Amino acid sequence: MDTINTPFPRLFQSLDLGFTQLKNRLLMGSMHTGLEEEKGGFKRMAYYYAERARGGVGLIVTGGVAPNRAGWIAPFSIRLSKSSQAGQHRLITNAVHDNDSKICMQILHSGRYGYHPLCVAPSKIKAPINRFRPRELSRSGIASTIKDFVTCAALAREAGYDGVEIMGSEGYLINQFIVQKTNRRKDEWGGTFKNRIRFPLEIIRGVRKKVGNDFILIYRLSMLDLVKNGSSWDEVVELAKHLEAAGVSMINTGIGWHEARIPTIATMVPRAGFTWVTKRLMGKVSIPLITTNRINMPEVAEKVLADGCGDMVSMARPFLADPYWVEKAQEGRAHEINTCIACNQACLDHIFLRQTASCLVNPRACRETIAPFVVTSKKKHVAVVGGGPAGLACATTAAARGHKVTLFEAAAEIGGQFRLARNIPGKEEFEETLRYYACQLEKHGVDVRMKCRAELSEVKDFDEIVVASGVRPRTIRIPGADNPICLSYSELISGKRQAGRRVAIIGAGGIGFDVATFLVHHQSTATELNQFMSQWGVDMSHSTPGGLKKAEFTISDRELYLLQRKSTKPGAGLGKTTGWIHRSALKKNGVKMLSGVEYLGITDEGLGIRHNNETSLLSVDTIVICAGQVSELGLADELKAGDVAHHIIGGASEAAELDAERAILQGVTLADTL
Ligand code: NAP
Ligand code: SF4
Repeated sequence: MDTINTPFPRLFQSLDLGFTQLKNRLLMGSMHTGLEEEKGGFKRMAYYYAERARGGVGLIVTGGVAPNRAGWIAPFSIRLSKSSQAGQHRLITNAVHDNDSKICMQILHSGRYGYHPLCVAPSKIKAPINRFRPRELSRSGIASTIKDFVTCAALAREAGYDGVEIMGSEGYLINQFIVQKTNRRKDEWGGTFKNRIRFPLEIIRGVRKKVGNDFILIYRLSMLDLVKNGSSWDEVVELAKHLEAAGVSMINTGIGWHEARIPTIATMVPRAGFTWVTKRLMGKVSIPLITTNRINMPEVAEKVLADGCGDMVSMARPFLADPYWVEKAQEGRAHEINTCIACNQACLDHIFLRQTASCLVNPRACRETIAPFVVTSKKKHVAVVGGGPAGLACATTAAARGHKVTLFEAAAEIGGQFRLARNIPGKEEFEETLRYYACQLEKHGVDVRMKCRAELSEVKDFDEIVVASGVRPRTIRIPGADNPICLSYSELISGKRQAGRRVAIIGAGGIGFDVATFLVHHQSTATELNQFMSQWGVDMSHSTPGGLKKAEFTISDRELYLLQRKSTKPGAGLGKTTGWIHRSALKKNGVKMLSGVEYLGITDEGLGIRHNNETSLLSVDTIVICAGQVSELGLADELKAGDVAHHIIGGASEAAELDAERAILQGVTLADTL
């Protein structure tokens, strides 16, 4: 690869650690995949990491590995405490080294976040996000835990890793020792700051002594806890200096404990939204600092380095979305990058549900061995009808495999439901996926027919016909539903029609929430950094321990009701790791959410409802219908009637609970079989 002519010169400078060199400034950050605990998972991880190494990343950090049983994230999760466990890691380290990259293993002790009865902590204080109360570590327990960290690091070296990352952030065990909130000990491990940082420093000294000087030792430092009574900025700086003196090679940035109620990586966080935190530490130590969070494209990463926000950039999810991110950036093909849209849907949400991680925009992620990309040996003519996520995924994959593909799209633009999603404040990243698909259509020579509703006669002679005609909004059967104060979500979001000041939203699913967000934010989009930080109560001067201040939300001047018939909590079906953010943001904006509502009728005066056995009139001037979708079959019915073989994917095959993850997965999976 030519490093001289790259448009991102700072990203492609090597980094000298004295005893070893990293070939560029790009680090694949730690992320649990779920493969760690699967049968045959090490082989799959070897392929997964090897592909990212082949893609050019300078350094990889694995998902967290526990140093002992108490440190498990969940029962029987991955740990490395015996020599016999080190052998299987060789599959990974060899695969990465064979592809000219380096890899560190992250050592993570979950402490009171361990989702099991064996969890331990500096003090017996339960985490608000865990039902298990931890056992307080005894002094001998602390000594043996430190020993377990050291043994784990030595075993990582034995397994061929180039180094380890000690997880000292996000509220895990080490972090729990550092802050008073979770460390109420009266012995030499608690009380003063010096005592509270003894635990991480003893670990670092022990590890450095055991592994020698020619082994990368990264410490992930919680630079902004975002919890009450967290570390002060002075404490962060002091700890960083001690870490350097104790033998750390690089310091990585940790932002926010898992229990913090502030979004730190979700899609509404502005790009590179927390790199200012690392920047404040630059120059305070002489070892390299790694910055992170919501960096997803090369121009953003390059700017982060140019602005002096770090010496190296860490990204985790963007490497799930595109293993060849680095190579594409280096070769001036950034427009070909499949961008991580920070949705969390197929990665972190899967992990929380104890499923294997993958990626919404790249369903091959973590499935490299079971869904490999294979060029076709039998070229076919393929017609894909519909240019939404399912159709685009299918058309571009089939064409990349070597088929001759024609894509028919009735609208003037590709994208289907993604064209609506990108208009939602905080979901602008969906535009990147459309840019990626447009680029792939062109690259692989797909014959794209826009504003073209495919007729049976046009497609019947293709070798394969794929119907991906999507969905249309469901209409509702409420008396008065044809009143002009009603509009569909697609009319509203596409800008065809406008809402008034008092609005009721019928349906509190994903789209109901999107519409509410659209309506409360339609004038100020909260994507600006300062606005985001003040809305969520982040103290950018870090003058309070933990970096929190009073949140300042601008209440929308709209009066909004978000309604559903079910008695469950509105938004219960939203993503595990993001649903709370949407609910919290709308509540702060004064949106009234009602469950267990019966709709009685719609008149010019508004919406009549029965709620808690009382009838009332919601005096609104607009009612937005977000009651789900039905399949748009059109051509599929004609093909069926004419007995013409075809495939149906995406919303056209099943509209219920359709989401982009399923649509894209179906598109790619079908294209792989054509
Ligand atoms: P949805 O999640 O199925 O929600 C539909 C809503 O309409 C429900 O609240 C339902 O609640 C209500 N409803 C259904 N039939 C109705 C009827 N006949 N009359 C009145 N209300 C009715 O569908 P969606 O909101 O359209 O979202 C579509 C898909 O996209 C979903 O799979 C969703 O997860 C996904 N999506 C996800 C996100 C995200 O942030 N992760 C964002 C947007 C979309 P009741 O039946 O209780 O009234
Ligand atoms: Fe990024 Fe979403 Fe893919 Fe996760 S699922 S890697 S957040 S695009």
